[in-house]
Amino acid sequence: MFRQAKGKTPRRPPPKKPSNNQKDPVGVYCRVRPLGAEDVECCIEVISNTTIQLHAPDGLKANRNGEFKETQYSFKKVFGIKTTQGELFEDVAKPLVEDIIHCKNGLLFTYGVTGSGKTYTMTGSPGQGGLLPRSLDMIFNSIGPYQAKRYVFKPDDKNGMEVQNQVDALLDRQKRDSQTTVPKTPTTRRIDPEFADMISPVEACKADGVDEDSSYSVFVSYIEIYNNYIYDLLEETPIDPIKPKWNGAGTPLRNNTEFIPPQSKILREDQNHNMYVAGCTEVEVKSTEEAFEVFWRGQKKRRIANTQLNRESSRSHSVFIIKLAQAPLDADGDNVLQDKNQVNVSQLCLVDLAGSERTSRTRAEGSRLREAGNINQSLMTLRTCIEVLRENQMCGTNKMVPYRDSKVTHLFKNYFDGEGKVRMVVCVNPKADDYEETLLVMRFAEMTQEVEVARPIDRPICGFAAGRRQRNQAFKEELTRRLEERGGPVDGESPTVLNQLLQSFPPLPPCEISGPNDDVTLPRLIEALEKRHKIRHMMIEEYNKTAKMLKSVLQEQDSNLLSKENFIQEQRGKLGEKEKMIQNQKNEIDRLEKKSRMLEYKIDILQKTTNIYEEDKRSLQQELESREHRLQREMSEKRRMETRMQGIVTDSKLKWEKECERRVNAKQLEMQNKLWVKDEKLKQLKAIVTEGKTENRQPQRPSREKDKVPAKRSASPSPVPTGPPVRPLHRRSHSAGGERWVDHKPTTNVDLDTVLQPNIPNAITVNAPNEKALSKCDKYVLTHQEVASDGEIQTKLIKGEVFKTRGGGQAVQFTDIETLKQENPVAASRKRRSSETGPDGEPMEGDWTDVETRCSVALEMRAGSNLGPGYQHHGYPKRRKP
Ligand code: ADP
Ligand code: MG
Repeated sequence: MFRQAKGKTPRRPPPKKPSNNQKDPVGVYCRVRPLGAEDVECCIEVISNTTIQLHAPDGLKANRNGEFKETQYSFKKVFGIKTTQGELFEDVAKPLVEDIIHCKNGLLFTYGVTGSGKTYTMTGSPGQGGLLPRSLDMIFNSIGPYQAKRYVFKPDDKNGMEVQNQVDALLDRQKRDSQTTVPKTPTTRRIDPEFADMISPVEACKADGVDEDSSYSVFVSYIEIYNNYIYDLLEETPIDPIKPKWNGAGTPLRNNTEFIPPQSKILREDQNHNMYVAGCTEVEVKSTEEAFEVFWRGQKKRRIANTQLNRESSRSHSVFIIKLAQAPLDADGDNVLQDKNQVNVSQLCLVDLAGSERTSRTRAEGSRLREAGNINQSLMTLRTCIEVLRENQMCGTNKMVPYRDSKVTHLFKNYFDGEGKVRMVVCVNPKADDYEETLLVMRFAEMTQEVEVARPIDRPICGFAAGRRQRNQAFKEELTRRLEERGGPVDGESPTVLNQLLQSFPPLPPCEISGPNDDVTLPRLIEALEKRHKIRHMMIEEYNKTAKMLKSVLQEQDSNLLSKENFIQEQRGKLGEKEKMIQNQKNEIDRLEKKSRMLEYKIDILQKTTNIYEEDKRSLQQELESREHRLQREMSEKRRMETRMQGIVTDSKLKWEKECERRVNAKQLEMQNKLWVKDEKLKQLKAIVTEGKTENRQPQRPSREKDKVPAKRSASPSPVPTGPPVRPLHRRSHSAGGERWVDHKPTTNVDLDTVLQPNIPNAITVNAPNEKALSKCDKYVLTHQEVASDGEIQTKLIKGEVFKTRGGGQAVQFTDIETLKQENPVAASRKRRSSETGPDGEPMEGDWTDVETRCSVALEMRAGSNLGPGYQHHGYPKRRKP
């Protein structure tokens, strides 16, 4: 913010960063000017008092194929074409003027393309004064009676304000009067009719709450920024008395050489980091007229410079600064307090920005010359600054705002960085030609609205007890009244007792004595003198009386003052107590805030812990689910296995049942056979017994029968003539070559010296059955010796077929038994018969079992089956899964 005096006013040093965190957005208003001519196409429509709508002109729409659509933009307020300057002032500038009177700074600028009405809005035209003359008028209307005498406030050269004593101020005034013989004093000059209209608005505004115990002074400066150079428009260029720069009417002389170009100024930062134009003229003005006259002077100078230097006025920014200095009155309420620390300065900057268009408009109306890239650098910087500010404020970033890149932004840096009220009037010309530029203006305006500026803090002037000016006035009036009551002198101007007395003073008669006999002159003189003497006495008395009365009034005042002071003291005490209370409450709030922060922290931690637990719970649940799945899978697998096993069990049960049945059948057959043999024997025996009776009848028959039986026996010598069932699937192929035999001769066999020895060609002789031999052969024979019932050794050749089992092993199925027997010739016939017919089946059975055991025959092999070990080949190496 711009508090120029604050460097010199440590009494109330405003903080660099405002202590209040209250912020207000930049107030953006939109003003739509009327169309110049009726036949011009319009591209703007005011929808409400806050919104406008932009329509793309027909030509553009057609060209860009619907790329542009209707867009709406909202502002704090939209002013339509019928808005008067007064209405605009009420809404936009009046609050800023009120602020400046209450020690707050303000910045108001107009923005828009050339011809959109920026200057019209800011300055106005005759009869329709703009924001600037109205602001000046309102200031002077408000502070008029409380203005300090000229030169009491005096700007120093460091953006500060000093207070001069009465004498110095008076001397300065006299000097000024003597220097300015005719012009320069606007009060003495006739107001230019050109702007007389502009500064006399009918609606005279006045700010409330003007501090009557302060003294005010207004200073104005007027600068122009062109091409990033700052020019002081109020600078007094040294006048060459021989070659005046312009004629009396203010029209510049044609000759360029006579024109002294203005010197550019630089920006400086004061000790409170406020920017100011170093060495810039600040003119103290005492009335609206005077202020506006100064403005007009600057305006003329600007016009001349533009013409002389061939500049384009639309590309320059003009800044009119109104500074208001205020300081409390002294205890008497007569003069400004001689303490420059008590001076407060606030300022209102009124800125008429350059045209925002990217294209340059030549002076020739209507013809536009596109100059790509000829963008007003200052406005570009302004846009960038606003963008960065907005980003910083919205995203919490801390990017550097490039204020220094242009003079305009640098000058107003503190409005955005510090505090103050910023308002912008966006001027728009609704004509379709301006559509594209207006679109850019709208976007910038919309963005600007999002920037916030710290609200200025209220800083009431605190001098002595309030109402000094009034109190003094009241005191004077009271004194006069009392004097009047007593008939005493009141003041020097009104006809008083004293005056009457003075007037009634008898004039002295002529004192010249005409001669020795003159006895008239002296007595007359004596009389007059006596009269005067009497009046003198009266006057002394009156004087004493008045003095006494005055004394009593003063004493009364004193006692009044005393009681008031006591009252003030009392109030101060109360204030102290309240402050203490506030402090206590603040401490309590602090404590509670701390506590709440602590609790929030705890909640945070608990929340985090809960999250962790929940995470754990989730993962455990997942694991549980997966395990359940696995369990179910395993269970179903088990069930499947069970059913399969049951299938296998029933399968094998069935098979064994069949096998058993088969064996039973075989046994039955065998038994039947034996029975048949016995029957046959019995028949033969019967025949022998009956032979004696029928000897001749059939002599050959027994032998025939005898032959028949052995024949039959040789044909089917097996006790099981049908033979065991053969599984053709597992039978070895006989077509592959001749039969090969495994000739099993146990070592325990005894050599019997028999003549007939079984000779098996192509046989592998083993003394214990082995897998290797079995695998190579398809026939098996076991030579078995045993003692027969008659005590003779009997040799049996037990034959069988070798099968491959399903398990990959070998099995032998016995098919035949040949019995070889030696016998004693004596008992031969009987014994032979008995052996041939075969003894009873019991020992045979026992032999069978014995033989089977000795052969270690593997009938069938299956893993996991319940077959006993005796049925398996010993040393069987490979076991395969079924
Ligand atoms: P800028 O300063 O933006 O280039 P001006 O203020 O010079 O534009 O306005 C251009 C013209 O339009 C001037 O003749 C002005 O009188 C006129 N004008 C602008 N705004 C209005 C308005 N609101 N009402 C009437 N005339 C206007
Ligand atoms: Mg203008």
